[in-house]
Amino acid sequence: MRRLEDHASVYQAELVAIHMALTWSLSLKEVKSINLYSDSRSALEALSDPSNTSELVLEVKRMHELATARRSVFLHWVKAHVGYLGNELADESAKEATKLGDVGWAWKKPRSRISKDLKDVTVDMWQTRWTSSTKGRLTARFMPEVRLTTRLYCPTITQVLTGHGRFPAYFHRFGLAANALCQCGEIGDVWHYLSNCPTTECMRKNIRTNDLSDFKVLISDPRNVYWIQQISRHVNDIIPTIPQ
Ligand SMILES: [Zn+2]
Repeated sequence: MRRLEDHASVYQAELVAIHMALTWSLSLKEVKSINLYSDSRSALEALSDPSNTSELVLEVKRMHELATARRSVFLHWVKAHVGYLGNELADESAKEATKLGDVGWAWKKPRSRISKDLKDVTVDMWQTRWTSSTKGRLTARFMPEVRLTTRLYCPTITQVLTGHGRFPAYFHRFGLAANALCQCGEIGDVWHYLSNCPTTECMRKNIRTNDLSDFKVLISDPRNVYWIQQISRHVNDIIPTIPQ
């Protein structure tokens, strides 16, 4: 077993001490910022090294993230003191840290963490724009939350999700039909075919939902996607009957 004076043990002991301090900081309620002082440059360098993946270092970083989620936590390097013990050492170190030049220490995030943070920021910005946009509102009802992963749907479902399909209302919008009416006399848009068109009733009754207007829930069930697809195909089939 290595002695405490051994460099590696001191370094590890300091990491454990930092971890304990960070853990303790979680119990503080009113404190808005915390300054932690360490005289172990090697421990701080290990924390600032994104390539260091030792279990202990990662655990300290994890605790640091938890602690900084509640308040600002600053880590400082102070010159080592020799000749003091126990509280006296801690007191002297603290005094020294407030009087003399201490070095603010911030560890670099690992590349994977930076990548995740950038993705999170990007998605947040995208979500804000998507929520406040005046365009694509039908699609937003089906997909209110943006995501970076792609969801692939067949063309007939995509027509429903976007409203850009062979619907009378869509054709009329672009001057391709004399009016926007379905053959039943109602406005022939996506909502009409999903909710109350008599020509789609036999398919609509198979949709499992308590609220047809909740498009997000509607599309999240693959069984519903199938029947929505059938409705979309049906609308495609009745296109020749659209008034011109
Ligand atoms: Zn109809």
